[in-house]
Amino acid sequence: MAPAIFSRKIAAPMRRVEDACRSVAERYGYGEIRTPILELTPVFSRSLGDATDVVQKEMYTFEDRGGESVTMRPENTASVARAVLSNGLLNEMPLKLHYAGPMFRYERPQKGRYRQFHQIGAELYGVAEPTGDIEVIAMGADVLAELGLLDQTRLELNTLGDLQSRTQYRDALVAFLQECREGLSEDSKDRLERNPMRVLDSKDAGDQALVADAPSIFDHLTDDARAFFDAVQEGLTTLGVAYTLNPRIVRGLDYYCHTAFEFITENLGAQGTVIGGGRYDGLMEQMGGPALPGVGWAGGIERLAMLAAGSVDVRRPIALVPLGEEAEKRALVMAHDLRRQGHVIELGYRGNLKRRMQRANKVNASHAVIMGDDEMARGIVTLARPR
Ligand code: ATP
Ligand code: MG
Repeated sequence: MAPAIFSRKIAAPMRRVEDACRSVAERYGYGEIRTPILELTPVFSRSLGDATDVVQKEMYTFEDRGGESVTMRPENTASVARAVLSNGLLNEMPLKLHYAGPMFRYERPQKGRYRQFHQIGAELYGVAEPTGDIEVIAMGADVLAELGLLDQTRLELNTLGDLQSRTQYRDALVAFLQECREGLSEDSKDRLERNPMRVLDSKDAGDQALVADAPSIFDHLTDDARAFFDAVQEGLTTLGVAYTLNPRIVRGLDYYCHTAFEFITENLGAQGTVIGGGRYDGLMEQMGGPALPGVGWAGGIERLAMLAAGSVDVRRPIALVPLGEEAEKRALVMAHDLRRQGHVIELGYRGNLKRRMQRANKVNASHAVIMGDDEMARGIVTLARPR
């Protein structure tokens, strides 16, 4: 489902993305959480919102042997919330968590969009203050900086306000969209009925042109929502985290409020969002738990890995090139010793000098250690540079 995941080209940068997230998360005091891939379907259908693309079209849902409907997690925020509830972590506030792992969405596969893909992410529970938003955004920026990708991305920031702001805005937006309904794509006509703010997030070029003139949420914020958003912006400015405002960032899932943000790159073509996140204060309650604020983000590991691929250092091996039976025995022991000492050793399984040197080239060895009869007799080796 995910292409080329086994090749060195993508697997090494993917690991680097995960390592960068772990290392930054550790510095912020976030602990790792591992959630199961299968959850009962309501974990997602109730929390993400019935009208979202993910729930409507993208979930891998099936009945298990017990006749229960289960879903392979399409994202991890709802899974983490479920885990917090069912593992008695509610008394551990504030709760700071990060994760990495596979997610599953039935989408049209294309560059940067797969049916099994992987995400890193961070979730902060129990912090209602703008400090929480500032911290998680700064942490996302630090992960990008750790990967050397900060200058290839820009941070776009929006607010979805509080419930009152959103209700006011929704009315203004629906009025506007009704006026130009005929020009909208079929998908967006549908969104207009079910979840009008999602029209702002449409990937359709015609829709995008139309919504360019849509009313802005910034004109419909309550005083409280505006003060909250001002505080987030002030904090980011103080930290030197650069951003631009984009009133059309809405996030795909229903549980978001206040801050919404994306880190976007121009260097990956159409699928340019590498990290997306925001505040989801209503989620826990929607899932049957107490009212508990939350804020966090998820990043696409494949997309980040494609960007970081050029700068990943792969340790070059040393190739042992034994010639003859005696040398092969010696080389086996030597390879074992050197690997135990931490060296990266390539030992071919068979072949003459030419074949083994070709192999040393192929694995990009820094040195080839040639061990022939002559060398064996004199207790030496010959060092060669393959390239
Ligand atoms: P998009 O607008 O690209 O569909 P989304 O809003 O569905 O993204 P989120 O649910 O916010 O994405 O997921 C966070 C990040 O995970 C995205 O910004 C992206 O980097 C990555 N991502 C999401 N879906 C996929 C996918 N199918 N394949 C690869 N990466 C993905
Ligand atoms: Mg999507």
